[in-house]
Amino acid sequence: MFRIGFGNDIHLLVKGKPLILGGVDIESDLGAEGHSDADALTHAITDAILGALALGDIGKHFSDAEERWKNAESFVFLRYAVGLMKEKGFAVENIDSTISLEKPKLRPYIDAMRESLAVALEIEQSCVSVKAKTGEGLEAVGERRAVRAEAIILLKRN
Ligand code: MG
Repeated sequence: MFRIGFGNDIHLLVKGKPLILGGVDIESDLGAEGHSDADALTHAITDAILGALALGDIGKHFSDAEERWKNAESFVFLRYAVGLMKEKGFAVENIDSTISLEKPKLRPYIDAMRESLAVALEIEQSCVSVKAKTGEGLEAVGERRAVRAEAIILLKRN
């Protein structure tokens, strides 16, 4: 049996914060603002897993009203969702994702993100796709006010 899930996320870009995407530190003059470490890609993927299982969203499981999730490493959320998925007998078949960020170019970081996500998702790196786009100068991404991520995931139960 297969289940499909979709997730997306957006975070404000500000000075003086780190920029972490897919668990990888990105060298950037602007970083992502958020309650946790604001890793938009990891949040989108976590939401995609929860969505595939129809278990609500990341905010339901990790409320930003709770102090204990402040500055939390987003891989904690991801590993929790992977645990729920395994409890229900599913494994990830493949994942595709896109990060929208005006600067810097993410190409040098893509394979490191794929590897760190593959380890957390317990699959081969070849099953994890991470793509990157700019905002072409348009809207919040293009104006360097935001980073956005979208992810779609296929789960399979054996
Ligand atoms: Mg988020």
